Amino acid sequence: MESQIDLHVHTTASDGSFSPSEVVHLASALGLSAIAITDHDTVAGYPEAAEAASASGIEVIPGIEISTRYRSAVHILGYYVNQNNHTLQQSLNEIVEDRDRRNEKICALMREDGLAVRYDNLKKRFGTIIGRPHFARVLTELGLASDVQDAFRKYLEVGKPYFQRRNFLSIERSVELIVEAGGIPVLAHPFQYRLSDADLRDLIEHCIEYGLAGIECLYSGYSAEQSRYLSSLAAEYHLLITGGSDFHGSSKPHIQLGSGTGDLYVPYSLLERLNHENASHIPLV
Ligand code: AMP
Ligand code: FE
Ligand code: FE
Ligand code: ZN
Repeated sequence: MESQIDLHVHTTASDGSFSPSEVVHLASALGLSAIAITDHDTVAGYPEAAEAASASGIEVIPGIEISTRYRSAVHILGYYVNQNNHTLQQSLNEIVEDRDRRNEKICALMREDGLAVRYDNLKKRFGTIIGRPHFARVLTELGLASDVQDAFRKYLEVGKPYFQRRNFLSIERSVELIVEAGGIPVLAHPFQYRLSDADLRDLIEHCIEYGLAGIECLYSGYSAEQSRYLSSLAAEYHLLITGGSDFHGSSKPHIQLGSGTGDLYVPYSLLERLNHENASHIPLV
């Protein structure tokens, strides 16, 4: 059988619980031949993963997952983005600054409730990209929620006491940014947006105008039928097919690296086509 890969993996550089090198070692132990590091709004996990990969022989692809808005929340994956691209770095810095402002407000609300939470301590513990999943972990540790899901339900969802909005890059800008940084933009987990067929097509067609190159057709929990439907859309729109688990470690304990919720199998041939596409790109530094 063709070797197995995973093109959607989070690390401690965002809200995953495994460090980049731990993820690489786990992938290697599971017999995966390649993984892509796709942290939320950052490329910071890649160097450590690449370093660990050189010892283990597994292929590591630099990637990112940008949170955007288009009617609702939409995530765009970017593969082979050039980490040194100035425009990309600048935009990612702006996202971090916006997150910092939002997160400081969440900490202030928690302190008003008598909780001893300091943002600089969270930064020290969790790194640069801090999101609501980290607050959920803290609330759980403080005994205010039974687990991350419960913490979201009680405190962090829209309308709940510690919800604070943050800003998002537009979907147009996100797709363009990935292209400008020499990367390949891919629509992540299309069924997560609960769109009708017509609205999903609108979304895809809109993104294609800005340079969308692929659709994530294989994903944790997607049935064979769902994946076939997405693959048929990819074929119809001349887009690449990608696939990955969205592994986060203990932050999403039901998802395993590579195999997702059990039956995910992303074949190496999808990466070959991605590589072929990548070879035809000339990154702008
Ligand atoms: P943020 O970007 O910091 O507002 O956090 C958004 C992230 O929180 C998403 O990428 C999800 O992974 C996670 N998330 C959002 N809602 C929930 C929920 N109800 N339960 C668990 N995780 C959630
Ligand atoms: Fe996440
Ligand atoms: Fe996502
Ligand atoms: Zn993800």
